[in-house]
Amino acid sequence: MPFSSLGISPALLPLLLRALDEKGYTAPTPIQQAAIPAVLQGRDIVASAQTGSGKTAAFALPLLQRLATSAAPAGHLPVRALILVPTRELAAQVGEAIVSFAKYLPQRIKVAVVFGGVSINPQMMNLRGGADIVVATPGRLLDLIDHNALTLAGTTSLVLDEADRLLDLGFGEELNRILALLPAKRQTLFFSATFPPAIEALAESLLRDPLRIAVEPVVQAVPDIAQRAIEVDAPRRTQLLRHLVQTEKWERVLVFVATKHAAEIVADKLRKVHIEAEPFHGELSQGKRTQVLQDFKIKAVQVVVATDVAARGIDIAQLPVVVNYDLPRSVTDYTHRIGRTGRAGEAGVAVSFVSADTEAHFKLIEKRLGIQVAREQVAGFERVEVAEVNPVDPAGTGGVKGKRPSKKDKLRAAKTASHAGES
Ligand code: AMP
Repeated sequence: MPFSSLGISPALLPLLLRALDEKGYTAPTPIQQAAIPAVLQGRDIVASAQTGSGKTAAFALPLLQRLATSAAPAGHLPVRALILVPTRELAAQVGEAIVSFAKYLPQRIKVAVVFGGVSINPQMMNLRGGADIVVATPGRLLDLIDHNALTLAGTTSLVLDEADRLLDLGFGEELNRILALLPAKRQTLFFSATFPPAIEALAESLLRDPLRIAVEPVVQAVPDIAQRAIEVDAPRRTQLLRHLVQTEKWERVLVFVATKHAAEIVADKLRKVHIEAEPFHGELSQGKRTQVLQDFKIKAVQVVVATDVAARGIDIAQLPVVVNYDLPRSVTDYTHRIGRTGRAGEAGVAVSFVSADTEAHFKLIEKRLGIQVAREQVAGFERVEVAEVNPVDPAGTGGVKGKRPSKKDKLRAAKTASHAGES
């Protein structure tokens, strides 16, 4: 099915196609096929969309058509469409994507991107005179509203992007405040990778007779991601990572760890063996984060070691390898993490390191997803540690109930770690 059969207005179609073509979008992805006609007809939608599914264009193209074909209200420009996202990186990416789609439209569509962690003044200046589309993280949006820098009274389109992450990151209260400021008569587009009860309830409360876009299991939704699980003792993970980067010739790897501290340590150890690695976490300045992403994109940095929150929204086409150095806490995080690779039809590999103590947790993830990932051993790194009766999770990756490690367990772990030179 081509883009031209989705109901896009004939006047705008060639202009949008030209921009899409430049981005290498030749045919719509399944979510674009399902969402674009419905959104153009004015329907609310609730879509289960993995990262990498092409959801940005799914909501942005019809939104642009609406803005380009309807007159802006007279006088002071309100915000016409609001896109709420969980992180600044995602805000920046969504903003950039929309600007690139709108490139050849005859009307100027003003897109403002606002997020916290940077000075509010330039954002206030930019919002003078309003904006057609605001892409925002919830906290900063409320700050701007409190400063009278913008009003949502005329906002007739709302997009919640990665709604599950918005709630996971604790934005529930901010969301409620924002929702209360929006006109009741509006179109709402709701995207989430997962639908736990809180998300279902939120969708239920926000949407009017929405079109549900098929919830597909992760494995089918991201068929190009080869999932691997390598058995290894926890203290030897950095060495294994180094070995894999070198022997499998990974050029660009995103490695997930549980804490900022771990991100620093693992990146540091890789640098010591001459692998260009950088940590990526929430305590780094925005400038530093942007720099790391930039270097990662141009391959000046080979390995980025990130926490879940910071890595949210990193969008690099063809990110070939993602490594779960620490297993994710939840199935949601697993889905999000592996969604970093294999984007829009590109093949990708997601590798999980599974130690004796995290085996039970990984099994739980497999069970929840209805998948089974074959366990591998890498010569020289075979797992020798054995879990205690009820495995616990000393790396703090959580999720598995069991007994806490005894003093003896901790001593043993410390001893193994120091033997491996990685404590
Ligand atoms: P998204 O899920 O919107 O973040 O998109 C994921 C990635 O897929 C981005 O790198 C997009 O540029 C790319 N993409 C989205 N739609 C298409 C398409 N129709 N054809 C090719 N690539 C696409």
